[in-house]
Amino acid sequence: MRTACYAIDLHTQFRGLTRRDGLLIQGDAGWGEFSPFWDYDAPTSRPWLAAAHEAAEHGFPDPVRTRIPVNVTVPATTPQRAYEIVTGSGGCTTAKVKVAEPGQTLAEEQARLEAVRAALGPAGKVRIDANAAWDYETARTRLPSLDRAAGGLEYAEQPCAAVADLAALRRATDVPIAADESIRRAADPYEVARAEAADVVVVKVQPLGGVRPALRVAEDIGLPVVVSSALETSVGIAAGLALAAALPTLEHACGLATVHLFTDDVTDQPLLPVGGAIDVRRAEPTPERLAATAADPQLAARWQARLKAVAGSQL
Ligand SMILES: [Mg+2]
Repeated sequence: MRTACYAIDLHTQFRGLTRRDGLLIQGDAGWGEFSPFWDYDAPTSRPWLAAAHEAAEHGFPDPVRTRIPVNVTVPATTPQRAYEIVTGSGGCTTAKVKVAEPGQTLAEEQARLEAVRAALGPAGKVRIDANAAWDYETARTRLPSLDRAAGGLEYAEQPCAAVADLAALRRATDVPIAADESIRRAADPYEVARAEAADVVVVKVQPLGGVRPALRVAEDIGLPVVVSSALETSVGIAAGLALAAALPTLEHACGLATVHLFTDDVTDQPLLPVGGAIDVRRAEPTPERLAATAADPQLAARWQARLKAVAGSQL
């Protein structure tokens, strides 16, 4: 088993990070990515390692589609910049717009959503993501205004942190609710479904332990699924594409167009959208890109130690 440790700067800060790092594992079936965030402890990171092993040793289940529609992500930026991001997105017809940014007003969010709608046209889909930042009252009062500004929202992703608040919001507004941060472990989607807290669930391959376990969750949960990345290199994105490709039904664009947030990639054929969709395929890291993105020896040693700790931990 061969490993390669990467550290790649991000174009803009995301999840408080300016750089993403992780470990790539090569096995007989190809490359897998192991990149739990540093605030995740060893037991929480175990499924992430299982996902990397699945990709490296077993490969993925058979696909039922060859291209995955994806959304463009619009950060909490100016209306003009938001417009440019959407029109320059490689044909994406769904946009995910960041809201609930500290220091921004409702008027700024409305202006951004109007610009995104103008860029997409009436047939496009606009979803918002609050990353769990609103309290219930703020979400309840803002959602109708943002829904109007967007000319209709596809859904609002994680407007509040608590599952109970998502459930109450669903009853209080007409805007469909998606759960993202509420789903971090394999048991979480069922909890969200039981509480009737979401219309859509966002699933990620690494936290759920691989494509096959995530596929089982998607099949069991009885709610539409949006496959998203955990901010990964093309190696991790390939696993997300494999999950989206194997789902019996796929109603919504996926959140897998995140390689463009990276300033570099481990392959010279990155998994990026063309015509609003990404082709389903594996990523092949190249020696040149692996060298260019290699973490410094100190960080690489930290990842090797983490790999050992996570492999030896109990769930
Ligand atoms: Mg989200």
